[in-house]
Amino acid sequence: MKKFEKLNFITAGMPLRTGKGSYPDAFDILREMKLDGMELEFVHGVRMGEESREFVKSMSKDFVMTAHGPFYINLNSAEPEKIDASVQRIIDTASVALSAGAFSITFHAAYYMGQDKPTVYNQVRTQTERIVNILKEQKKEIWIRPETTGKETQWGDIDEIIKLSKEFDLVLPCVDFSHIHARTFGRNNTYDEFCKILNKIGKKLGQTALDNFHGHLAGIDYTGKGERKHLNLEESDMNYKDLLKALKSFDVKGALVCESPNIEDDCKLMKEFYLTL
Ligand SMILES: [Zn+2]
Repeated sequence: MKKFEKLNFITAGMPLRTGKGSYPDAFDILREMKLDGMELEFVHGVRMGEESREFVKSMSKDFVMTAHGPFYINLNSAEPEKIDASVQRIIDTASVALSAGAFSITFHAAYYMGQDKPTVYNQVRTQTERIVNILKEQKKEIWIRPETTGKETQWGDIDEIIKLSKEFDLVLPCVDFSHIHARTFGRNNTYDEFCKILNKIGKKLGQTALDNFHGHLAGIDYTGKGERKHLNLEESDMNYKDLLKALKSFDVKGALVCESPNIEDDCKLMKEFYLTL
């Protein structure tokens, strides 16, 4: 697996400036803006042609790549065929991401569907075991990361995801700090709270988890039910500066994906602030 020397700031999908352009244009913009890579957004389906995969893979020598799986995933669906389809979508995301040079994939794993946390945990665990076994059989080595989710109806608080990560060697958390902030209705927004999260990850999952980090950050709007929508950083209360300070203090290495609506502009803002630390 890839070894990182630093924290890389990458865009969620192609920069907006790419317009109707394609991957070569997108990477030109990343290079011009001195950004470090891109998360491939398979949120509406895992589709990427052979030519694009090869091109992106060639770029992955100089850029850090990750991928985000489809939104239509629920490992806790009441319908077995929907669970099977969800497992397949995660396998497909991993396979295509790997062929495009990505080191890690993330996805929203499940909904509680009104069930209690231990029941849902066991179901997610059973399905994760299937996924990991299939990928191992196919000799596909890529990090599989359930994302910390933004709503209380969605499975995946930081403790559940750390627990799952402990059970499987291909699994680590994708830490979406904005989701954690929204899910806890405004808490988890101070330097100390960010340090607490990183400390917990390092303690429970070891240095590997901080040396191969995959996280998300954006401005966020939330209600009493959690995440409402993503915002640009400066339009939201997300305390990104203290978060970046915490990431620096823990010497976190890997990829931080900017998911603000203005994508590359906030990505640049984060990176530039981080470099002043
Ligand atoms: Zn996500």
